[in-house]
This record gives sequence, C-alpha cells and structure tokens, in this order.
Amino acid sequence: MRARERDPHLEDTATNAKRGRTTSSRETGPSYAQIALGTLNNLKSPESEKTSGLPSLLIRDAHIWTKNDTIRGSILIEDGKIRKIARNIAKQADEEISARHLLVLPGLVDGHVHLRDMQLSYKEDFTTGTAAAAAGGFTSVIDMPNSLPPTDSAEHLRERAKRASRKILVNVGFHAAALEDSDEVRAMKAGGAFSMKLYLPSPIAPLDVDDDRVVTRVLEAAKQASLLLTVHAEDASMLPRTGEIKTFADLVRLRRGNAETSAVRRILGLQKKIGCRVHFCHVSLPSSLSAISNRSSSRLSSEVTPHHILLSENHVMTQGWKAWMVPPLRPRKETRSLFRAMKTGIPTIMATDHAPHAIKEKERAPRKSSPGIPGLETALPLMLTLVNKGKLSLGRLVSLLSTNPAKVFDLRSKGGIETGADSDLVLVDLKKRGRIDPEKFFSKAHYSPFEGWKTQGAVHTTIVNGLVVYNEGEIIGKPGVGKVLKSGSMNEIPR
Ligand SMILES: [Zn+2]
Repeated sequence: MRARERDPHLEDTATNAKRGRTTSSRETGPSYAQIALGTLNNLKSPESEKTSGLPSLLIRDAHIWTKNDTIRGSILIEDGKIRKIARNIAKQADEEISARHLLVLPGLVDGHVHLRDMQLSYKEDFTTGTAAAAAGGFTSVIDMPNSLPPTDSAEHLRERAKRASRKILVNVGFHAAALEDSDEVRAMKAGGAFSMKLYLPSPIAPLDVDDDRVVTRVLEAAKQASLLLTVHAEDASMLPRTGEIKTFADLVRLRRGNAETSAVRRILGLQKKIGCRVHFCHVSLPSSLSAISNRSSSRLSSEVTPHHILLSENHVMTQGWKAWMVPPLRPRKETRSLFRAMKTGIPTIMATDHAPHAIKEKERAPRKSSPGIPGLETALPLMLTLVNKGKLSLGRLVSLLSTNPAKVFDLRSKGGIETGADSDLVLVDLKKRGRIDPEKFFSKAHYSPFEGWKTQGAVHTTIVNGLVVYNEGEIIGKPGVGKVLKSGSMNEIPR
C-alpha cells in the first residue's frame, strides 16, 4: 500500500486557524497515516482496486431504506453502481460489510456548502471540507461561488474544478456567481455549473441588484441557458447599517422583519414574468416559505437549514459569534413554525450552509464578525435524533437530505437506493448515542452552536462511488475518490 502524498497545503493552513492548540489528527482533518492505513478489518482500502475496475462490495444483512420503507436485505455493488438488492445474495464480493445493526440510507446530497480552498484555505480546503461531508453522511455536495477567486466565469469554474478533482473525498459540484452576460452564463452552464447564485445583500460579481432591470437580465440569462438560479433573499436596503450594531443581539434584532420575505416576493414577481427555475436558499421565516409554496410551481424550490429550525435568537444572545450566520437566527415563535412546515413537507430540501471561518474572524467586534457556521458534521446526527424522538419521520429525513436535493440539482442517478443507481450510501447506527463535539470535527472550523447537544443516531460508514471513504470515526478514502459533478439540463423539478 502506497502512503498518501503529503499535501503541503494542509500543513500551511493548519497553523493559521489552530495556533496555540495541541494538534491531533482530527484537528487538521485526517492524518496521512489514517488515510493510508485504513482501519476496517474486512475491507481493503480503495488502493487495492483491481486493474479492471473498482472492487465489488457486498453490504450484508442490513436494514435498507428503499422508496417508502425499510426492508431487510443485502446490497451488491459493482463498478460503483448498485447491482442487486435482495434478501440474500450468495455471490462473493471483493469486500464485505456485515451490517446487521445498521440502516442503509441513500448518500446525502448537500446543495449548499462553502468549501473555500484556494486563497481561503485557512478557513477550509477541499480535503477537510469533504472529509467533514463524509463524516456527516454526505456523498455529494455543491459548493457556493463566493470563494477567492470567486467562481464568476467559465475559466474560474474550470480552475476550481481542476483543483478540487485531486483533493476531494466525496462528489463535488459547483454553483457560479450571478451574471448579466448571457454568453458567459451559457459558458458556465456548459462547464457544468449547477446554478447561478444571486446573493442579494452583496453580489459576488458586481451587479446593481437594486435595479429590477438588471435582475431581470440575470433571470433571462438563466432561462436562456436552462440554468437554475439560486437566491440568497435579503433586501440590502432593509438591513441595518454597520454603525447601528454594538452587540450580537443588535445584529439579529436589527435584521428582524421583512428583509427576507420582501426579497422573496420581489424575485417571485420577476420569476413569474421570465419563467426561469429559481431555488430559494436557507429560507428562515415562515412568511417567506409560504410566499414560495403558495405558488405551487414546479419551477420553484425552497431550502431550510438545521440551525434555522432548531435554534433561535436566544442562542445568539447566549453564544454570540458561535451562533451568528445570515440570515440570522429568528425568534422562537418563527423557528417553531418553520420546524412544523419542515416536518409536514413544505420546504423542498434541507441544506447545511456549511460556512467555515477561522475563529479569529468570528471573534471580532459584532459588526465585523464573519457570519456562518460549519454544518456538515452535525446535520445528520441532529436529524436522526429527531427521528428517534418521534418528531420527524425517516421518510421525510431522506426526502429532505437526499431524494429531493438530488432532484432539485438534477443528479439523476443519486438520491435513492435502487438497482442501477450510483452506490453513494450512508450506513447509520440509529441507536448510537453521542454528543456534538466540535473538537472532533474534520472541518477546520472547530466550533458549533450545537456544542454539547446529545444525539441519538450516528454515521457508521460512508460509501462514495462504491468505495468506503469513512468508517467509525476515521477517513479511510484517498483524496480524489470523489468525482467532480457536472449539471445536466432540467427545466422542471421531477415530482
Ligand atoms: Zn451560504
């Protein structure tokens, strides 16, 4: 077995964010020894691939989530695809997992992550970010374009994808910045971009977003290129001026109100005229969600995050920067109502908005503190805990975190366990109890507003493209095992 090449990048940036702390393998992401040696007893590492293709894998005697229910059975994986699902499979495979006490779910798909890397590698890089994804049960993630350099042209998209390809542990696709230039938009679409992200409070590429004519041209360019438009809906003119902000409490209080719902209504109005497909990111208010769902259009979709349904403004009052993100946490009454909507099926998907920053950027004065929290490693344990408590059905969890995001982002062979599908799977131990411990994150961002929360239900093993990438606390996949995803062309969300 060949030892993994050293990645100088990881070493450089580790000192930045974690100066003065003892460095364990978890703090800088997986160690090379962890990756190269692996820890599975019955499994060979992906290094042992046969020259003719990928090793076959048999998951034996598991509880398997199929379309609407769990069944007992085995899954045979060959060439990275699910070849057979049956009560008993006699065939021998190169590798085997005995999964008696485990539940197999389709690999989770996160349509909203910030993997940073390049000039922002001190916050996160492709390897640590996708290690966090694998540890959290996510087998495909889509990266947001506010990187440095930003993903604002077909050329930048190509460079970013190229850099990612040799570093990623799960599959990664890319969103691009919203532009008016329809030729460049078409080029980004042809390059595989999953959407154009319209970040209304502060556009990624220069754009006069207050001017409806400009935003209309963006929507038209999206329509012409059959490209999804993803929107961060907050009306900049309704947000507080920095001079008004003294405390973290000010940040959330002054950002209350209708900045989000007003922006949602504005985009909905323009979308109605143009007809392009629009996905609303991290909707944080029930009024915004109902404005979208009332249109009941297959060209519209919505997203909620775990933090907006489980936390409230009170957490910002007590935790300050650890609970600071945009849109901010909302009053308890609003988050309760958002939770109920999530449970009953109104938002289309759940995404983590994994947005790591260095602690020194978060600890600044409230008006300068970087908004965003890591979320890839907490989402599934938190949601499984709700399932165990009877507050969320397993079916709804799978729809929100796998099946529906695969549909919204047109990943046709993902989001379900069936013969012929990509073998992206997560094996969970539904009974295992734990506690959220940011020190153990593979992400470089070692903080979380969920720190200390008790959980029941944990990721046991994550399989990406037919290969075991994560197993019981260790990353055993090799960077590059994930694939760079490219978007298809879809005008409507299949029901
Ligand atoms: Zn985001």
